[in-house]
Amino acid sequence: MRSVLASAPAKVNLALRVGPPRLDGYHPLDTVFEALDIFDDVEATSVSDSSVTLSISGLGEDLPVDSRNLAVSAALLLQERFAVPTGVALRITKRIPVAGGMAGGSADAAATLVACNKLWNLDLSTDQLMELGAELGSDVPFCILGSLAHGTGRGEVLRPLKVGVMHSWVILTQRQGLSTPEVFREFDSLMDYVRIPETLVPDTQDLQEALEDSDLEAVGRLMVNDLEQPAFVVRPDIREVLRAAQEYGIRAIMSGSGPTVAVLADDFSTADAIAGKLSRQFPELTVLRANGPAAGAHVQVVR
Ligand code: ATP
Repeated sequence: MRSVLASAPAKVNLALRVGPPRLDGYHPLDTVFEALDIFDDVEATSVSDSSVTLSISGLGEDLPVDSRNLAVSAALLLQERFAVPTGVALRITKRIPVAGGMAGGSADAAATLVACNKLWNLDLSTDQLMELGAELGSDVPFCILGSLAHGTGRGEVLRPLKVGVMHSWVILTQRQGLSTPEVFREFDSLMDYVRIPETLVPDTQDLQEALEDSDLEAVGRLMVNDLEQPAFVVRPDIREVLRAAQEYGIRAIMSGSGPTVAVLADDFSTADAIAGKLSRQFPELTVLRANGPAAGAHVQVVR
């Protein structure tokens, strides 16, 4: 085997409830993830020495290609943990917006773990890969699992949800991304922790039930993102985009830590029509159509 091509999905958070930071500095989350059919591809090709290299095409050509890149860290983690003697040349084809709150970096790490597991014949199970993924980033386990899941902890403790109807989305991405740590810092300065008990994170039970019942109207009503207000402070333009997008479909929400805005539509054709209207209304934004829930990280081709 010389080369393995794997893909991993973007995510949207249908709900993202955030609690006050734990002693280790992480914010406890209660979230519902949905994988979307916007995939990054990672091709892993064996090399004769022990080097791990990376090239990127598509979006994100300015991203670092050393160990600051989550794909390189993922390959190094496997190589070191399992004493793999050979290296790998990674090539990412990037379609997931960078720093958009859609877990693009995590998807690249997830696809790299799956590709290198195959290339190096490590035979690790999905659960083992998800555990390793959690060492790289909180969203990596979900990018491996895919579909629809309830997440707690830092978002890495996952419980798959039963999939009902497919969801049609319109995704509005901005040219300039948003830093996740910056949005969490703003969240902390807006929160009044005095009135909020340390352990309280609002739960997403009702939304999970609405999803499992395929009740899209209730899903729309229960969608929530606690990072919207702090993101608006950092980037007031997001509020404007969200307000305009709210006029369409069932419900619009900011994805993760933003600035991407996602509109849940009634069905495929309505979503197509909304995408057309929003791209005319916001020529400066990139408007994508996506459907979910989509598959988690998987091998496409082995050569
Ligand atoms: P999340 O939703 O998980 O918070 P995000 O979608 O907002 O993440 P990413 O696209 O994952 O953001 O990028 C966040 C930062 O991670 C980038 O600004 C970049 O510095 C770093 N990064 C490292 N590796 C990658 C990668 N392979 N793709 C994108 N960003 C990466």
